[in-house]
Amino acid sequence: MSEQREFQAETSRLLDIVANALYTQREIFLRELISNASDACDRLRYDAIAKPDLLKGDADFGINVSFDADARTVTVSDNGIGMTKEDLIRNLGTIAHSGTRELVKNLDGDEKNNMSLIGQFGVGFYSVFMVADKVTVLSRRAGEELAHVWTSDGRGSYTIDEALKDTRGTEIVMHIKDEASEFLLEERLKAVIKRYSDHINFPIYMGLGDKALQVNSGAALWMRSKSDITPEQYKEFYRSVSDTIQIDEPWLTLHWRAEGTHEYNNLLFIPAMKPFDLYDPKRHHGVKLYVRRVFITDGVEALIPPFLRFVKGVVDSEDLPLNISRELLQANPVVAKMSSAITRKILSELEERAKADIKDYENFWSLFGPVIKEGLYDAHAHRDQLCRVARFYSSKQPGLVSLDEYIERMLEGQDQIYYISSPTLDSARNSPQLEAFRKKGVEVLLMTDTIDEFWLPIQAEYKQKKFKSVTRGASDLSKIKSTKPDDEKPKDENAKTETAALLTRLKELLVGEVNDVTVSDRLVDSPVCLVAPENSIDMHMNRVLKKSQAYEDKMRPILEINDGHPVITKLKAFVANDTHPDLVRETAFLLLDQARIVEGEPLKNPTDFVKRLNKAIEKGLI
Ligand code: ADP
Ligand code: MG
Repeated sequence: MSEQREFQAETSRLLDIVANALYTQREIFLRELISNASDACDRLRYDAIAKPDLLKGDADFGINVSFDADARTVTVSDNGIGMTKEDLIRNLGTIAHSGTRELVKNLDGDEKNNMSLIGQFGVGFYSVFMVADKVTVLSRRAGEELAHVWTSDGRGSYTIDEALKDTRGTEIVMHIKDEASEFLLEERLKAVIKRYSDHINFPIYMGLGDKALQVNSGAALWMRSKSDITPEQYKEFYRSVSDTIQIDEPWLTLHWRAEGTHEYNNLLFIPAMKPFDLYDPKRHHGVKLYVRRVFITDGVEALIPPFLRFVKGVVDSEDLPLNISRELLQANPVVAKMSSAITRKILSELEERAKADIKDYENFWSLFGPVIKEGLYDAHAHRDQLCRVARFYSSKQPGLVSLDEYIERMLEGQDQIYYISSPTLDSARNSPQLEAFRKKGVEVLLMTDTIDEFWLPIQAEYKQKKFKSVTRGASDLSKIKSTKPDDEKPKDENAKTETAALLTRLKELLVGEVNDVTVSDRLVDSPVCLVAPENSIDMHMNRVLKKSQAYEDKMRPILEINDGHPVITKLKAFVANDTHPDLVRETAFLLLDQARIVEGEPLKNPTDFVKRLNKAIEKGLI
């Protein structure tokens, strides 16, 4: 009857590390087991709304913790939903979440590294092997007659047998290792339960039979008044909803009751660290929906917009019906109203935070700003608030600025919000396209997140000021009153003709490579730069798209020349006097390639470039 099975490879690996970890917080195994027991009760309570028979005379949910010092065992049991044989195999023999499986592959011989990785996803049930060298899980699924027992020493394999169990639910017996004897003491266990599991919604009893006493207070934390909750309790609750064992603290704790047409209580957190799967397309938000203290689901996507998917916590509605299916919740108008009110509340709290402590907000923004900016792309209803919450790097100062600050500082004659898109802050700051803006004292926002390429083109304006890329189209700086002295001299007719002749020649030479060659008003020190034509996509966006195979790059940039630059002056003279045609040609290509390099564009033909460069150097050395 007994069936022996191997753990999935990743599980084995994780178990090895867990069992040998000198982890100072071994006590969290109890928190994990109680949290699973509580989930199991939640799930059965929900299923029983539609099928009350499942409860069969045992409607009082509870969790029990007991120990036997002589037998050296600690037992955690619940009358929750229980597990079938298949459940046991899948839940306790594999790592279901693919992101977590990937992380486990990165575990290595370095304990510090391992603990910090493990801290990011939590080890859940497997944490029992920190304190036990043998574990049995006896479980009977609600509504089934047959029970099963799962046994393992956590080293490579486990066995499954059929078994008898009088009651539904799960009983986990841990055979405690020598070095974990502290958990065979009543006071120690009680303290651990109080510390980590006080807020659990079901009674947790210690002791057996009539002598069993409830240890936790059992009231839903989010229903208590703020003044009755200690910071420590908030923190523990945060850790329990965020499913990590890391010593992470919430960056923001938001606890409020919404009253009015709809009533609901909210306890939400923003983490201080970035979750490892923030950009996993399969990742969902971490907010659990309750209806009058009954856990319904953590899968209602409509409750929290994707751009706030890092928020964790609980929303408990007083007026949603209990027996509504999870699918219908997704389209429920009450949920939609709650969602937009919750979003507004979170965003207005962020606005306050940014005003109160910009340094602190900068840390937050560096973690989650790129995600929030997704809202600028697809959450039109929250657009104004998102624009107020968003912060940007700027050409003017090292720290972040808001759009409001930017607009406040705009120069006389300036009616657009200028920005430059670039892969990094450094490359943005060093862009030749910024030179004239800097010289004139015009501030430019630096956009370095991929998402910026998506929201900027559709976000036409903020406070009637249009967003304008400095690497696309004409920059038209002439209307703006400079804060710095203007040293431009009016050009004579002769100079104009020479420039026109050079432009024509360059266009002939670079045909097929560029769309046009024009005189720049954005360059000061550099001889040339590339910009995108007004009606095409921006330079950086073009690069982003090029990474996707399906994209066919048809965009031909415009080459802009700096009319006052010595190299350009020389070229003009050559063209005007019709001398050194080869040198003009070689220099034209050198200039184009250097503009590409500064842009971070790949060179079409690096060998040709190097040959030309060497020729030019040789000339210089003679
Ligand atoms: P998580 O709780 O994050 O899913 P765990 O490793 O803690 O991960 O548990 C794995 C799975 O095992 C749970 O998702 C659940 O399906 C199942 N499980 C664990 N303990 C119990 C229990 N006491 N009753 C029912 N199912 C359980
Ligand atoms: Mg768990």
